[in-house]
Amino acid sequence: MSKQTILPRTGEFLAEADRYGAHNYKPLPVVVERAEGVWMWDVEGRKYLDMLAAYSALNQGHRHPAILQAAREQMEKVTVTSRAFHNDQMGSFLRELCEATGFDKALPMNTGAEAVETAIKMVRKWGYQKKGIPEGKAEIIVLENNFHGRTTTIVGFSSEEQYRAGFGPFTPGFKLVPYGDAKAFEDAVTENTVGFLMEPIQGEGGVIVPPEGYLACTARICRERGIAFMADEIQTGLGRTGRFFCCDWEDVKPDVLIVGKALGGGVYPVSAAIADDEFMDVFHPGDHGSTFGGNPLGAAVGRAALRVIVEEKLSERSAELGAWFMEELRSIDSPHVQEVRGKGLMIGVVIKKSSGPARPFCEALQDRGILAKETHEQVIRFAPPLIIPKGVLADALAPIREVLLG
Ligand SMILES: *Cc1c(COP(=O)(O)O)cnc(C)c1O
Repeated sequence: MSKQTILPRTGEFLAEADRYGAHNYKPLPVVVERAEGVWMWDVEGRKYLDMLAAYSALNQGHRHPAILQAAREQMEKVTVTSRAFHNDQMGSFLRELCEATGFDKALPMNTGAEAVETAIKMVRKWGYQKKGIPEGKAEIIVLENNFHGRTTTIVGFSSEEQYRAGFGPFTPGFKLVPYGDAKAFEDAVTENTVGFLMEPIQGEGGVIVPPEGYLACTARICRERGIAFMADEIQTGLGRTGRFFCCDWEDVKPDVLIVGKALGGGVYPVSAAIADDEFMDVFHPGDHGSTFGGNPLGAAVGRAALRVIVEEKLSERSAELGAWFMEELRSIDSPHVQEVRGKGLMIGVVIKKSSGPARPFCEALQDRGILAKETHEQVIRFAPPLIIPKGVLADALAPIREVLLG
């Protein structure tokens, strides 16, 4: 596989980042200077197809004109107020978010991890107040191989050793069970269980799709046992898997819906925890908050981001293009590929252990003008912006074929 050569200009940027930035990432050695739609250009003037879409923060593509326009117009008026005052964007944003998702209320935050933390606080307090769980005993069941963000509470219930090592002590009250096994979940329920926190497809875990019926079955168990079903749709939501939300594939309406990433339309961090009044009512003034959450710039961007997903039928596009692209990928008779899996345009190509890790395959793709990133050693993730034209996706098949057959 390719030995990458680093051009001098690129090398300078890499050296600067290496010298002044914490070494908490290992990015591909490409320095992006500008982007539009599905395309990115690096500081050497080379053009790339973006097949990662910032982990689905760019479902609407880079610099979508309608979202940029909304941001520009809002920047001319007011950008941040804090929640000490009202602003004229937040209420409309939350109404549109609730109307689109079918819930009573939404609590706006910024990053995905904050929205997950919000959901955890909400469900715990709900458990104490409405279910009479003894103080300090609330338990949330989580899944092996999960990814919900990087705060100390969240990494504390990760099953990934590297996410935890050296960062303890951790927040108690979480119990891990295997993903995709509804029986294991049911067996882990106790009288103190208040919530079940899950990803309908595990993205960072390696694009792991649970067995059909898993969402509906675990949601039914939650309903029967009075447990809050908390769907982290930060990556799977907003069209990515070929439905508006991945839970829609099994007609499941979660009790708490967690969104982020594409809600910010690729320009600004916007996230939210969404639920009906029964859950949201636990919050009173002073209980929870965020300086930037619900700020007018973020709210205006969020409104435009949602509009684009609906008006441009991005869920439908993702379903159609994803099904077709996955078939094309499966038809590549590669000695290196163990499996192609996913839903919509959230696709993982699993490289056999005997062929080495996925990283060199991603580097070879980079050399051919396609930016994709490995996840979990063996998986190449293909998750382009959902606005991608079919022809562009079709053209990507030749270089992908070359790399997978090489
Ligand atoms: C990205 C992601 C998060 C964390 O979002 P941040 O904005 O990085 O904090 C949480 N859950 C899932 C499923 C994600 O993909």
